[in-house]
Amino acid sequence: MDFDCEAGMPKDDESEPLRGVSPETLAAQALGRIDPETRAVVPPIHVSTTYQRDADNGYSSGNIYSRADNPTYDQPEALLTALEGGADALVFSSGMAAATALFQALEPGDHVIAPKVMYWSLRKWLGGMATRWGLDVDLVDMSDMDALANAVRRGETKLVWAETPANPLWTITDIEAAAEIANGAGARLAVDSTVATPVLTRPLSLGADIVMHSATKYLNGHSDVIAGALVAARDDDFWQRVRAVRAEVGGVPGPFEAAQLLRGMRTLYLRVERSCASAQMIAERLAGHKAAAEVLYPGLAGHPGHDIAKRQMQGGFGGMLSIRVKGGVDAAIGTAARVRIWKRATSLGGVESFIEHRASIEGTDSPVPGNLLRLSVGIEDPDDLIADLEQALAG
Ligand code: PLP
Repeated sequence: MDFDCEAGMPKDDESEPLRGVSPETLAAQALGRIDPETRAVVPPIHVSTTYQRDADNGYSSGNIYSRADNPTYDQPEALLTALEGGADALVFSSGMAAATALFQALEPGDHVIAPKVMYWSLRKWLGGMATRWGLDVDLVDMSDMDALANAVRRGETKLVWAETPANPLWTITDIEAAAEIANGAGARLAVDSTVATPVLTRPLSLGADIVMHSATKYLNGHSDVIAGALVAARDDDFWQRVRAVRAEVGGVPGPFEAAQLLRGMRTLYLRVERSCASAQMIAERLAGHKAAAEVLYPGLAGHPGHDIAKRQMQGGFGGMLSIRVKGGVDAAIGTAARVRIWKRATSLGGVESFIEHRASIEGTDSPVPGNLLRLSVGIEDPDDLIADLEQALAG
């Protein structure tokens, strides 16, 4: 991977990030910084909500009030910026706070495009609050670049939103092609890369303008923090508006959550590599299972997005897959009821594996098939996970 670093550079200043090392090393050492004041290897948590003005009435530290910013965010934001290859990052109180801040930085009347099948809560927000606030929202099949090209309106479309792989069919969007179409019409491309993580895909290097993460998922990885993040390719006026939305609305994480997130990111590469390898094994094993009508996983050659995923994902196809169970809704709910190791819970990207009957949480207007079980593969022994699924599917 192409990181902004000078190979072999010795560090003179230990408060500076490591240079010339791989992303795995950057993540494991949270950039390798040493706290200049205490020489702590793990940065301190700053709980203060406010900061003293200088006698000359300035704020020489750059810190004013913690609804806008907190020094505890510096290291997770710098690490995310490095891992995604961006210009700047912002952490938020949730993935939804991050995603909606981007849309709130637009003007009423602006046209935006999002996928028809995507993370349901954001789709619901776009159809509800965002539309009432004045955004003109179109939903398209984001695996179909002709559909996207037909939907963009030159000069009117301001933001194209993609999620890849996208909940819960793991639909793949060709980021490079989508960026070309969006940028060609004068719009920005934002990519929800929660499932891919910077381990597998770096959307900014493929032409995206902004990357979004529900940091609640793989970045933190332990099902104990709600957080979100945005990473920008450029620190421009639009990005400053996004920063202002965060400061004005206060969609910031608590300092403890920010510190916990940094701790989680140290093991990101190990966790994602393990989840991907296990998900691939599980998908291949279940693909021919007599109780499974269909297994949806971009790592299977039969998945409609497999070829694009192979090109734009490195090192695996993610830890998420779905099974459509023969016998419909009741058979799917019955299967989930019989697991002993998998946890019946919503969310994804934790060290523990989750199984979820997706239509039950998304409600009646969901486009998700009723017989679909969404699986988030954790880091347990994959043989245990497969045995548990097989006994649950056997009925
Ligand atoms: N994007 C994706 C792909 C998600 O799965 C989720 C949550 O499930 C979100 C965004 C929203 O994140 P959060 O729950 O942290 O607000």
